[in-house]
Amino acid sequence: MKHSQRDAVLRTLSSVTARAALTAFALSTAATVSAARASTAGVAPAPIVPPDVAIERLKAGNARFVVGKPSRPNATPKRRAEIAASQHPFAIVVSCSDSRVPPEMVFDAGLGDLFVVRTAGEVVTAVEMASIEYAVDHLGASLVLVMGHERCGAVKAAVEYRNPPALPLPGAPKPVADSHDDGHGKAHDDGHGDGHGKAHDDGHGKAHGDGHGKAHDDGHGDSHGDGHGDGHASKPTRVRETNPDFGGPKPRDHIGALINEILPAVEAAERRSRRGDLLDEAVRVQAKSMVRRLVEDSPMLKAFLVSGRLRIAAARYDLDTGEVELLR
Ligand SMILES: [Zn+2]
Repeated sequence: MKHSQRDAVLRTLSSVTARAALTAFALSTAATVSAARASTAGVAPAPIVPPDVAIERLKAGNARFVVGKPSRPNATPKRRAEIAASQHPFAIVVSCSDSRVPPEMVFDAGLGDLFVVRTAGEVVTAVEMASIEYAVDHLGASLVLVMGHERCGAVKAAVEYRNPPALPLPGAPKPVADSHDDGHGKAHDDGHGDGHGKAHDDGHGKAHGDGHGKAHDDGHGDSHGDGHGDGHASKPTRVRETNPDFGGPKPRDHIGALINEILPAVEAAERRSRRGDLLDEAVRVQAKSMVRRLVEDSPMLKAFLVSGRLRIAAARYDLDTGEVELLR
């Protein structure tokens, strides 16, 4: 597709509201200001990589990573110079912040290839959504891959909150030294587990009190209730509302807010999963529910999706093998 055609499509598909929001976003970020400069200076954007090509490129990169033969593309000073003025990543990867899941390594990608958004549990809120919209609309990315991972500590914290008897909190008597267990094959002692376990111990819920709790009730109740498609009428569980172990004001961290964002996925996983696989089922549901959120909460992304200009997919990364599995 020629650049002029692409621009025409973008103009047609983007809603006025979304464009206004992105304009405001553009004016407020240095990265976008620099992109705007490049645009006004006549730097042509790279052609959009078709979504199917983008996903094949990710698959090929992951295959090289899995067998330990990465090509480490686009890592030279020449490449650095080429993309210094503007960027045109072919894919957006939304992944967990977990130190063992770096998208550029997992997909054997280089400078300027991936636009990466990372939060614990790959939680997407309005802020992350804006970053994704920006990369699709302004940078031309044609694929959003939301990638959860095996034994995710953030998801595990939410599972444990819902199921303390079935999955007792690990390491309660030893709040330190968990970090030394990372990478040594202890399934439950990843970085998130450490942090969230402490949240359990300290009792976190009321720290977020009315502010977070109300925001989540208002903002996400509908989309999650509908989004999981199970027709349940009750509100999702919230940290501050239930487990007394989470009680007591401890306004020193925000982990309860993170758990709140993941609880709907855990609840959906509980309704459909075999008990023994609850954590892994929740990991899968969490990635897919973030995909659903992108589609349902972003008219812009939905328009690109409908037009075929964009693909949005969920995936699960296997910590043991390094393989990325696309989820259906
Ligand atoms: Zn994780």
